[in-house]
Formats: sequence, C-alpha cells, structure tokens
Amino acid sequence: MNSAASGVVNGGISFWYADDGLPAPREPLAGDATADVVIVGGGYTGLWTAYYLKKAAPFLRITVLEQRFCGYGASGRNGGWLYNGIAGRDRYARLHGHEAAVRLQKAMNETVAEVVRAAEEEGIDADVRVGGVLEVAYTPAQLARLKAFHEHELSFGEKDRELYGARGTAERIRVAHAVGSSWTPHGARLQPVKLVKGLAAAVEALGVTIHEGTPVTEIRPKHAVTPYGTVRAPYVLRCTEGFTASLKGQRRTWLPMNSSMIATEPLTDAQWAEIGWEGCEALGDMAHAYMYAQRTADGRIALGGRGVPYRFGSRTDNDGRTQAATVEALHDILARFFPSLAGVRVAHAWSGVLGVPRDWCATVTLDRATGLGWAGGYVGSGVATANLAARTLRDLVQQDSGQAGGSDLTELPWVNHRVRKWEPEPLRWLGVHGMYTTYRAADRRELTAPAAESSKLAQFADRVAGRH
Ligand SMILES: Cc1cc2nc3c(=O)[nH]c(=O)nc-3n(C[C@H](O)[C@H](O)[C@H](O)COP(=O)(O)OP(=O)(O)OC[C@H]3O[C@@H](n4cnc5c(N)ncnc54)[C@H](O)[C@@H]3O)c2cc1C
Repeated sequence: MNSAASGVVNGGISFWYADDGLPAPREPLAGDATADVVIVGGGYTGLWTAYYLKKAAPFLRITVLEQRFCGYGASGRNGGWLYNGIAGRDRYARLHGHEAAVRLQKAMNETVAEVVRAAEEEGIDADVRVGGVLEVAYTPAQLARLKAFHEHELSFGEKDRELYGARGTAERIRVAHAVGSSWTPHGARLQPVKLVKGLAAAVEALGVTIHEGTPVTEIRPKHAVTPYGTVRAPYVLRCTEGFTASLKGQRRTWLPMNSSMIATEPLTDAQWAEIGWEGCEALGDMAHAYMYAQRTADGRIALGGRGVPYRFGSRTDNDGRTQAATVEALHDILARFFPSLAGVRVAHAWSGVLGVPRDWCATVTLDRATGLGWAGGYVGSGVATANLAARTLRDLVQQDSGQAGGSDLTELPWVNHRVRKWEPEPLRWLGVHGMYTTYRAADRRELTAPAAESSKLAQFADRVAGRH
C-alpha cells in the first residue's frame, strides 16, 4: 500500500458513522402487512417523504422498508454539502422554458433554508453551519468556465451570488494558485449521519413504521415484495437512488455511480490559520472531474471526488470500502489545494453510490394510474434535492388521493419527467469509464498547457455521455 492509504480506516460505511456511531437496528418486517403508503428506502428521500406526508395527514398509515438501516446509502456517506444545485436544471430550461427552470432554482434556494429550519424544529443537531458554497478556479480554462458558470447562475435568479478574483478568494480560503471563485449563500455544511439519524427518529416519533433489515425485491402496483412478506398499499414510493438497479426490472433505470471521500486527522489551529477557511464554506472546484470538501465540526477536512466511477454490471461497493489508488488521488488533491497540508494523515476513506439517469436529470414522479412513485437520479446533488422531492411527493399523493389540490411544487418542470434506460453492458461500463478517463485527461491538459479555452476532450465526453 502507498503512503496516503496506509493506516487509513477504509469503509465501515463512512467516517460520519465513526464520528457518531452506528444506529441500533430496528425490527424487520414480520409478515404480510397493509399500509396507506409504503416507502422503499430509508435515506433522505424516503424519510423526508414520510415526514412531510405524516405531518400533513397524521391519519395516514405509512411504512418505510429499508434493506439495511436508515442512512446506509448515500445519505450516510455524502460530503455534507447542503446546497441549491439540482441535476438537470439546464435541460429542463430547454424542455420547459427558462421561466420554469427559474422556478425550479428558486425552489432549490428555498429548500436549503427549509432543511435548516426543519432540522431545528425537530431538535436535530447536525453540525449545520450556513457558510455558503465557494467554487474555485486554479487554471485559466477553469477561470473561463467559472465566469461563464457565474453569469449562467445569475440568469437563473441567483442575484446574491458573488464573483471573486485571486485576492477575494484568498480572503475566504487560501487555495494554492486559485485565480478566482464564485460564492453562493445558498449552502451549508452538515454532518450527514446526524441528519439522517435525527430524521429517522423524528419520523418514528410521528408514528411512521420503519422496518430495517428488510430488502424489497420487487415493486409492483400496490405491492412491495420482501423475503419476509408483502406490504400492500395504494401508493408505493421507490426511494432507492443508487441501489435501484438491484430491484426487479430496474437494472438499467439509474446507473449507480461511485463517489469516494477521505477525512483527515483533525488539523491544528496553526494549520487552520495557514489556510483560512474560517467561514466553513462548502468548497469545490471547476475541474471536469470535480472535487468537493468541507471543514468538519471537529476540525478535519472531508474531501471527495469520483475515484473509480462505475463497476461493471451496476454493482455497488462493500460497506463503503474504496481503492487505495483513490485514497492516494484524493490526498493528492488535498495537497494541491493546500500544500502546507501535504503531510497531514488521512484518517478514514469510504465510498458510496449515487443514481444517474440516462439524461442526468433528477426527477420526482407519481404515476396516477398505478400509484407507483419515485424520486431520485440526483447525480451528486441530493442532500437538498431529496427534501424538495419529498415535499413534492407529499403534494402529488395528496392531490391524487383528493386530500388537496395541486401546488406550486407539483407544477415544477422536473415532475413526472420520463427518460430512456441506460444501454446494456458492456456499453454502460465502457461509456462511463471512457467519460471519466477523458475528464481526467482534459484536467491534466488544462493544468499543463494553460489556455483559457476548456479542453475539447471534456466537451466531447459530455456529449457522448448525454450530459448536455
Ligand atoms: C460519497 C458521496 C458524496 C456525496 N456528497 C454530496 C454532497 O456533498 N451534497 C449533495 O447534495 N449530495 C451529495 N451526494 C449525493 C447525496 O448523498 C444523495 O443524492 C442523497 O443522499 C440521496 O438520498 P436518497 O435517500 O435518495 O438515497 P440513499 O441515501 O442512497 O438511500 C436509499 C436507501 O434505500 C435503501 N434501499 C435500496 N434498495 C433497497 C431495497 N431494494 N429495499 C429496501 N431498501 C433499499 C438503501 O439501503 C438506502 O438506505 C453524495 C453521494 C455520495 C455517495
């Protein structure tokens, strides 16, 4: 094993569980049952949906079925960027018009505040710190993309976004060689596991039934089938994101994309003083194979990126283990951003899966003919989006069952969007690996031959992958 990866705790679901402890297991399903709404998956999407539905209609009998334990998936492993990005907004603008996409963006801005508000109301202390999101550029090509990105975001109504040059960036965080950055106030860092555990407890306290250790093998209208029995309900909501391919008939629906993270040992006060970062901004960059990072409540840097993006046949990881080469690559990014931290030890490394639809657009859907619903395909932006999806699923179910009319949320352009399936293997594997190999090559080229124009390679990869 190489230096950055040696002595690292690898897997164990994630660092966030090492920080806060694994939850006590809840009872599995004990036989056939009925409910008004059955939710498959106990991550942010499933739990927020249960939360808002039960609050709106306390008489509803709601059951959540979770294969392992609540927060086992990406909701217990993510970078803790609670922010206003939503996958697919620009495509929705092309499909439904600019004004519709502006409404979607506004709803996302409000969602960041809603998560903070709801967590507070439920007494969930998830180490939330609202410092916004800072995205930095450190090559001329990245700077050109950053400026275009900044203007683009302003055009979707984000008037409070700020653009900085090298000096303004350094005043926020001293990232080596940074030439500019864009900052939005619509972001916070949080401890993902504290949020998902608190949410599960809040949902249970409201009277929702949660069965853990209960894998659903098949979803069909009015039925969620498990090895221990079938739950029948008029509404069955699939909230399984990166694990969706394991359900019968869903193998090619959403591609499970891996993302990996490292957490350093806690830094000293002197190390923090050297790099700045007093505001706890969520930190990202404009590379094609981008990174994301946060300053944790206990003074570490948690930093993520793609690693090995996709496993053949839509396989997922083994309780969060990641490859030594990925740990090394993420440590290299840390050292590139903050050369003074090159000697800092990595304490923990892990990975997780997120769901990627064929057109890279997040969706929330209720099929009124069958009562089947689903939400996800958030790509890498689900911490806030899952909350918007949940409130939208609440409104769709209430509308369909005659408890309420439509709402502003049910009119958003991502509602009831349909997309074709991914190609069969080996095309899926070849396509995704080709795309990320090309992104990395484009990033290297932009670093070594600094031109202000983005590498054509990356534009080609985007087109082949169906991203734009
Ligand atoms: C490493 C990593 C870093 C990320 N960083 C960020 C970030 O900083 N900001 C951001 O916005 N987004 C981030 N994301 C994405 C974000 O975490 C997810 O979009 C979000 O958590 C999705 O929530 P979810 O509830 O839809 O899915 P999940 O949290 O994956 O939950 C799905 C649940 O369903 C259960 N399940 C699956 N199949 C079945 C079945 N058949 N039967 C029963 N249960 C089942 C799973 O066990 C899991 O608990 C990151 C993701 C990863 C992996």
